[in-house]
Amino acid sequence: MRILIVGGDAAGMSAASQIRRRQPTWTVEVFEMGERTSYGLCGIPYYVGGLVSNLENLVVMTPEQFERDRGIKVHIRHMVTAVNPARKSVTVKNLADGQSRDENYDQLLLATGAAPLIPAGLEPGVPGLFYIRGLDDAGRIRQAAAHARTAVVVGGGYIGLEVAENLAHDGLKVTLIGRRVANVFEPELQSLAQASLVKGGVNYLPGSEAVGAAAHPDGGVAVKLAGGETVQGDLVVVGAGVRPRSELAAEAGLALGEKKAVQVDRLQRTSNPFIFAAGDCAETHHLVTKKGVYIPLALPANRHGKVAGLNICGQSEKSQPVLGTSALKVFDLGLARTGLGLDEAIKAGFRSAVKTVVKQRSKPGYFPGSGEVTVAVIYDKITGRLLGGQMAGPPDGVGHRINTLAAAITGAMTVKEAAAIETAYAPPFSVVYDPVIIACEVAEKSR
Ligand SMILES: Cc1cc2nc3c(=O)[nH]c(=O)nc-3n(C[C@H](O)[C@H](O)[C@H](O)COP(=O)(O)OP(=O)(O)OC[C@H]3O[C@@H](n4cnc5c(N)ncnc54)[C@H](O)[C@@H]3O)c2cc1C
Repeated sequence: MRILIVGGDAAGMSAASQIRRRQPTWTVEVFEMGERTSYGLCGIPYYVGGLVSNLENLVVMTPEQFERDRGIKVHIRHMVTAVNPARKSVTVKNLADGQSRDENYDQLLLATGAAPLIPAGLEPGVPGLFYIRGLDDAGRIRQAAAHARTAVVVGGGYIGLEVAENLAHDGLKVTLIGRRVANVFEPELQSLAQASLVKGGVNYLPGSEAVGAAAHPDGGVAVKLAGGETVQGDLVVVGAGVRPRSELAAEAGLALGEKKAVQVDRLQRTSNPFIFAAGDCAETHHLVTKKGVYIPLALPANRHGKVAGLNICGQSEKSQPVLGTSALKVFDLGLARTGLGLDEAIKAGFRSAVKTVVKQRSKPGYFPGSGEVTVAVIYDKITGRLLGGQMAGPPDGVGHRINTLAAAITGAMTVKEAAAIETAYAPPFSVVYDPVIIACEVAEKSR
């Protein structure tokens, strides 16, 4: 059996490792167009701002280690340019010498990840304008930041906010362009994120939209806004969201789903019986809506890669549906969410979805580091079922607390049941009645 994998990061290498473990005699080969495997994209904002000093610290396992320790052959700097399902082969271009060749597979895994969204007018090519696609971009941004005084960040989502904070920590004067910030959160939490960004020293231009970028005559980059004004930065980082890298799949005639991500079933099988897909290039299944959804996050990518690997080996392992549990830090504020927001719940057909928002101390008022946590729970007013939860507060007060709600939603709990969870109490960690418990109690009372 010959298994080929396209993409050597979270999903691809999780699958490769599983296959190697279960089927030691099979051939497992990975084609990776970059130079690294198993690297932490999530650490990039912290490298860009200097908190992480060495880019290579973001690499978990090198291609050489995979080959030596796990017997997995990784062809770095090899880009798969076509999948030919009729011949069960892929066309691979060796980026070192430009030569292309065909390689046959018995089964194929697409783990090509996501690519940055490129807003019209902000196409790459302007010196000083950067996108984050991989660790090399991080290196280039870090280098540019070392000689810069000002930076413009385009995009108020997770990546834009993290990059803005880290560049500001590094001493740059940062302007952030975006219609809203943290817009996957409820409005009450968005306003907290905006306030924290501004308090942290970032010049945020609310309601702004970047529509063009060009080299500035005095150096750096001039970013043109929809209103006609121009903002100048020694460097510009665009973090305007991502899209699935699904071109290979589309050209091979595979079915695409939500947001053009590769459509897969719960076994990570595509519409072709010999091709699997996993990670940020693929659709996932939402635990609450039971529908296909595109949520590109690291844990599902690793998990679904592993499931694809097991099923390539002949098992029938179902992948865990997702809730989109995620967290973000904006200076002194942590934000976290899981499950559906109120609008998403209503759109998904939960007509009786409502929201309860409470504000509580994260720790007893007398304890150092105590702060206010705002918790929003989204639930069905008629059945009481928890559908989603979000929170904002001190970073050490939300990052793990959101997991209580994620566990409650995974267990299909009602707000009453979630309010009965026994949480831990000691002053360094929480208050007696944890804010999550209070939020669920208040939700239950208001039904
Ligand atoms: C800046 C940043 C911060 C993030 N922070 C977080 C976070 O805090 N928490 C979180 O959960 N998630 C975070 N993410 C998302 C997380 O990194 C991804 O969900 C995860 O990396 C997805 O893994 P993957 O293997 O599916 O795809 P990727 O990591 O994108 O890997 C895909 C690989 O495929 C290769 N490839 C693509 N096409 C080809 C081809 N044709 N031929 C050969 N090779 C190819 C690419 O070079 C790449 O190495 C962040 C992402 C970014 C960019």
